[in-house]
Amino acid sequence: MLRSGSRSFRTKLVLAAAATVALVQIVGALVDIYAGFSRLSSEMDVKGRLVVEQTSAAIARPLWDFDDALVEIVLRGLFAITDITRVTILTIEGDIGTEFLADGASGSKATRFYRHPIVVEDSGTLENLGTLEVAFSTAGLRSALLGVIFHKTILLFTVLTVASTALFVVLGRLSKPLEELRNAVYAIEREQFELPVPSRDRQDEIGALANALDELRAREAELAVFRRINTEKSRREGSRIQQALQSTRDAVVLIDETDKIIFINAVASSYFAEFSIGDTLVERRGDERSRADQIRSALLERREIDIEVSIKLQGSTRHFNARTGPIVDSEGTDLGGLFLASDFTEQFEHSREASYLASHDPLTGLLNRRQMDLALAGWTEKADSTIAVMLVDLDHFKGINDTLGHQLGDSLLVAVAHLLVELSMSDDLVIRLGGDEFAILTYGQNSERHLEGIVSRVISTMQGPILLDDRLVQTSISAGIACSSKARGDIDALMRHADLALYEAKKAGRGRYEIYKDQLSATHERRRKMEEYLQAALETDRVFPVFQVQTCIHDGSVVGFEALARWADPDLGMISPVEFIPLAESAQLIAPLTRKILVDACTTANEWSETGFLHRIAVNISPKLFDGAVLGLLEDCLNLTGCCPKRIELEITESVLLSNSSEVKKEIEILRSMGFSIALDDFGIGYSSLNYLRKFPVDKIKIDRTFVRNVASSAQSRAIVTAIAQLGHSLGMKVTGEGAETLEDRMALKGCGVDVIQGFVDGRPAIKSDAQQIILNGLMPQLAVN
Ligand code: C2E
Ligand code: CA
Ligand code: CA
Repeated sequence: MLRSGSRSFRTKLVLAAAATVALVQIVGALVDIYAGFSRLSSEMDVKGRLVVEQTSAAIARPLWDFDDALVEIVLRGLFAITDITRVTILTIEGDIGTEFLADGASGSKATRFYRHPIVVEDSGTLENLGTLEVAFSTAGLRSALLGVIFHKTILLFTVLTVASTALFVVLGRLSKPLEELRNAVYAIEREQFELPVPSRDRQDEIGALANALDELRAREAELAVFRRINTEKSRREGSRIQQALQSTRDAVVLIDETDKIIFINAVASSYFAEFSIGDTLVERRGDERSRADQIRSALLERREIDIEVSIKLQGSTRHFNARTGPIVDSEGTDLGGLFLASDFTEQFEHSREASYLASHDPLTGLLNRRQMDLALAGWTEKADSTIAVMLVDLDHFKGINDTLGHQLGDSLLVAVAHLLVELSMSDDLVIRLGGDEFAILTYGQNSERHLEGIVSRVISTMQGPILLDDRLVQTSISAGIACSSKARGDIDALMRHADLALYEAKKAGRGRYEIYKDQLSATHERRRKMEEYLQAALETDRVFPVFQVQTCIHDGSVVGFEALARWADPDLGMISPVEFIPLAESAQLIAPLTRKILVDACTTANEWSETGFLHRIAVNISPKLFDGAVLGLLEDCLNLTGCCPKRIELEITESVLLSNSSEVKKEIEILRSMGFSIALDDFGIGYSSLNYLRKFPVDKIKIDRTFVRNVASSAQSRAIVTAIAQLGHSLGMKVTGEGAETLEDRMALKGCGVDVIQGFVDGRPAIKSDAQQIILNGLMPQLAVN
């Protein structure tokens, strides 16, 4: 505004002044011209009238007297007056009588005529002789007028020039400080406060204005400082809040009071594409409103809502807890709305995972036991439904796990799980109960036959080796099937029956299945009874050791005994350890049983050593005792009997070495350092390679009967036995051959390099007194207890 008006102000003022002066001058000149013209005109009129009056009087008499010469003299004499161009005497009728023209006169129109009657008095009457007409040229009048106009014009321009110049100069002096003041205003506007406002020392209005402006400058300068500080502060605050909102993992959207979106952080813009900055939110109505529409309308209504939203972006789904709410100031004025969505994908996944883990087995992905219980409970509520359960157990899984490693064991479990799922129907429930135990549940008619169909295919599939992690593994499963109708009892009974059937399948040689029949209960009953009786028997002498002699293969001398447990029950008869040792293991009775045999063995060793027998008595230690119990148990027995560990050999199996190698290794080292000798029992039937022997320092290897049985007839068996013997010797171990029944076996074993023999060829396991007899006279026992 200031910029455009200022320069034209001076020009306009000068132009206005010039116009005014010109107008005044023109009006003045016109008045002057008019006055001059009037004066000249009336002078001419006076002169004209005087001329015609006097001339008509002068020529009246001569004309009456017809003195034309005189008339002519008089009339021509008029041409002495410069302006007169023609003199005419008009007759009474108005015709031209006499006429004289001035020299050089032309019939110009610029002529003024004056007339006067020519009257003569004759004899008292006035005689009209005509009219005298004198023509006056107005040329003189015009040139006089032009002269005036010329002078006036000159004057006008002179005045105009002088006045304009003067005004221009004066205004110039006025507008310069104004321009400076204007520049000062610009400087304030641009926040350039360094230079003071000029013209402050002037005493006029400009000076006052300059001073006022200077005060304004000073004040503005101060305000600018505050403003800068405040702007910087609020900029920093703003950017701090903005950065905080940007960097949060939550999505944030802000709208202002006009519903315009004024802020969206990165998370919001990537997941909530319906919001974009600068847009104004509008309600979307419809029957099926999406979550986004609900958020939108809550935002618009400044309503608080709290909903969960799942958003899929580039294949991954994220879960948000979305909230909206109003933004109001302390007076409650609407400042807009806030949309906040916190990403709880991780918690969501965790809780999903947790609920998955609560119902599934993490390794195989199958449902777990809890789900089985739930399903069974649900199914039993359905009337008339027949429920069938199949329990599946992997044969020798522990051995595979121990020898081939847990990883391969896991792969095997997964493979079996897949096979079970593959062969079952979608309605069947396939469950991992834990360890190597699975279950398949089904209901409805023919459910038993359906399970039979599945298990037959599983068994036939597993007849060939399975490829696991580039290794071929040969294994099998055993299964037990039981079926229940309401009439047949409850779920517990169903499971027990399936378990019994499984047990039967295992007992019948594994790799097969059994269906529960009522007579299985009788077997079960015997088992239950045995368990009960065994517990009682352990308190008595009905469980006792027999001793089987071990002889030197070279000279046949007695070099030790193995204590083998026996159970003579008045009800059930003589029970084989092959039957009651697993029972003791599963019924948690193996520790008291071992204690009993150990105490007897120690006592026997003490007694025999008094007779000069300084060899060891071997005792079998179940793998189940290598859970930390073995050391305490042995110490107890030593303390109780006062036996020296040098009289005792401990027989352990390979599986012990392989289960928890570092712990077991430590225990074995302690036992050896105490003075016990360690023998590795049943060597060769396990799964370990010979290399394991290097890792576990044992004193003796007992080659299993399965190799010894064929040693006389089979070159392959001999080769194996020889290799084991050689390796054992190279590691400083003694080698015993178990189960040599004939002299041929003995000879063959000798040929293989075996050191000690234990078998029927030298003697069956015998009661203590008989065994002692063997020591005393080196005779074969007459009474053998088998
Ligand atoms: P084992 O430790 O391998 O014991 C040797 C088994 O082979 C004994 O069977 C013995 O009678 C049998 N035997 C010995 N020589 C011959 C032979 O020439 N031919 C044949 N056919 N058999 C022979 P037993 O006494 O029936 O014991 C069976 C298994 O029961 C033992 O095998 C051992 O593993 C276990 N056992 C016995 N007593 C105990 C014990 O007190 N504690 C533990 N944990 N296990 C025991
Ligand atoms: Ca043994
Ligand atoms: Ca053995």
